[in-house]
Amino acid sequence: MKIGIVGGGPAGLFFARLMKRHDGGHDIRIIERDPADATYGWGVVFSDVALAFVRDVDPELHGALAREQEVHAEMRIVHRGQAVTLANNTFHRMARLDLLKMLRRHCLEAGIGIEFGRSIRSKSDLAAFADCDLIVAADGAKSAVGSLYAAHFQPSFDVRPNKLAWYGTTRLFEPLSLIFREHRDGLLIAHAYRYSREHSTFLVECDPQTFEAAGLAKMSDADSRAYCAEVFREDLMGSPLLSNNSNWFNYSIVKNRRWHHDNIVLLGDALRTGHPSIGSGTRLAMQDSIALFEACRAKAGDVPAMLAEFERTRRPGSDELQAAAIRSSEWYEAVPQKLGLDPVSFAYDYMMRTGRVSHEALKRRDPRLAAEFEARSGVTIAL
Ligand SMILES: Cc1cc2nc3c(=O)[nH]c(=O)nc-3n(C[C@H](O)[C@H](O)[C@H](O)COP(=O)(O)OP(=O)(O)OC[C@H]3O[C@@H](n4cnc5c(N)ncnc54)[C@H](O)[C@@H]3O)c2cc1C
Repeated sequence: MKIGIVGGGPAGLFFARLMKRHDGGHDIRIIERDPADATYGWGVVFSDVALAFVRDVDPELHGALAREQEVHAEMRIVHRGQAVTLANNTFHRMARLDLLKMLRRHCLEAGIGIEFGRSIRSKSDLAAFADCDLIVAADGAKSAVGSLYAAHFQPSFDVRPNKLAWYGTTRLFEPLSLIFREHRDGLLIAHAYRYSREHSTFLVECDPQTFEAAGLAKMSDADSRAYCAEVFREDLMGSPLLSNNSNWFNYSIVKNRRWHHDNIVLLGDALRTGHPSIGSGTRLAMQDSIALFEACRAKAGDVPAMLAEFERTRRPGSDELQAAAIRSSEWYEAVPQKLGLDPVSFAYDYMMRTGRVSHEALKRRDPRLAAEFEARSGVTIAL
């Protein structure tokens, strides 16, 4: 097959690699907007489950990822200055850049062409792939290809109210920490985790009222970082916050009514986004790549059948994870109303936020937290 891919992020690169690895005869080209040496982004998080998918389909990449990654089995929630540890919350982390470099190297070694520094903006730009059997739009949440065919794909963008800034820091947060700090201007939340020997991701979130009261909209990047460093002084212990294109933004939950059009298919964030609070974006993107690859294998050569099969097999899992992501973002948006909870009840409420963990499941996963919650609430549920 001739395959053209717009976007060299995790979704596009991993799909290209899987296809070429399966059949070296495929002719695959990727067009990527950023230059080869772009360094945007800090770390990414994968759950155990996410990595298991990669292991099943690509043991070699799984092994390479496992060597690169930091693995931690716990996380902690800091509320009212008190840390509550949550057991058996295993996360694998690595630098987004290392993941991209690894996937790119594998693609280039396999003979996949990647053209960096070229953007697809119009239907005539897309003519670069006129000879392709399949065109994959893996060009991120603001997909240009998706918007060129918006009448067909019918995308929706649910812009969430909270403001986020994706910083880094040299303070090494272990385990992954969610820190809730009440400040004179309102509540600020940090999602912080070490992903390499030198750096942690430090994603700051606040509601629009806090953002307004703090005057963050009018601050320079340096002033914003200084403000956040002051709010999280006790946690950062003197380490600075680092910026890398780290502007404040509102997260947009992207959905598409239709997933494919003629021989064009949406993949990864272009298809649908999760939410950083469940660390699902890269996982969703790579699971999409696997599902599209499996569909191509199952319906070899028949592009309409492949794309129908991709949607049939992938939509239920994708919708389920996105629904959990939306419930998680809503929990963060409503969290100012939960600040009256004591730290244990607060941590318990956090664990229940997506509706995917029952009390019984929590009891098996983290008996100490469940027991402490039961002792406080007077509720006992037998297994
Ligand atoms: C604040 C924040 C925190 C996050 N934290 C995590 C996390 O902890 N864990 C996690 O798993 N995920 C996280 N994510 C999500 C993650 O970054 C994405 O969900 C994931 O990378 C999706 O992969 P993708 O390949 O679909 O899209 P992207 O990674 O966005 O890749 C798309 C690629 O397409 C290129 N491109 C865009 N437009 C064009 C064009 N017109 N022409 C050519 N090329 C184009 C872009 O340069 C980019 O390389 C986070 C996201 C945000 C915003």
